[in-house]
Amino acid sequence: MTGPNPQSKNCERYRRTKLRRIADEVVRCKACSRLVEYRQKVAHQRKREFKDWTYWGRPVPSFGDPRAEFVIIGLAPAAHGANRTGRMFTGDSSGNFLMRALYEAGLANKPRSERADDGLQLNNTYLTATVRCAPPKNKPTRLELDTCKRFLHLELDSLRNGKVVLALGKVAFEAYKQYLREKSMNVEGLTFVHGACYNVAPHFPYFLASYHPSRQNTQTRRLTAEMLSMVVREMKKKAKKNHLKHRNPYF
Ligand code: SF4
Repeated sequence: MTGPNPQSKNCERYRRTKLRRIADEVVRCKACSRLVEYRQKVAHQRKREFKDWTYWGRPVPSFGDPRAEFVIIGLAPAAHGANRTGRMFTGDSSGNFLMRALYEAGLANKPRSERADDGLQLNNTYLTATVRCAPPKNKPTRLELDTCKRFLHLELDSLRNGKVVLALGKVAFEAYKQYLREKSMNVEGLTFVHGACYNVAPHFPYFLASYHPSRQNTQTRRLTAEMLSMVVREMKKKAKKNHLKHRNPYF
């Protein structure tokens, strides 16, 4: 992997530029015809309660702090959430559920995530997803996951301060395992269980799992606010424990 010396003054600027370039590429992407058609159809039809909105209707770039120690991987933009607002985890109940937990942990400056211009800022946290276009029924196909994974991998390679990856849901969990596999890491024994924490050093040293804060999971109380807050607190604890400077070797 080429790039400036990680210790150099230019490194921070390089990382920001690199993430920006990835985001630019994401928003122009039309690789998955089914998703391109769906995201545009939803944007054109709109939901009655959002009829005054101009939907984003494009792939949604990641959102957060390029120097983040915490990287949170979700599934995909929601049709009337991020596909409408253009910002990851924004404009739906999942986003608000997650943001409440991040806010309580001091990782967000607001407890709600409503629109791209609402002033929300994330602290030390980067939100990304397995696919960047809203899929029908929130279910990307295997091919779509494989096609989109390169954006996630490029971001993970660039987030060199990362210490903890939190996967929201099994699909995100498997997506990160795939990344580790491609870095020749042994992923044997990494099983998706809510609250599980694995040490996967030397890369991002810790890998945590949580149920996804989807409406289905939160309404059935499969995932409660306290359960998610506990995982976020654990994430912070792990990062503190690991305050030895841990460099991403793939930068
Ligand atoms: S899901 Fe990913 S790869 Fe597919 S069109 Fe959207 S941005 Fe491109």
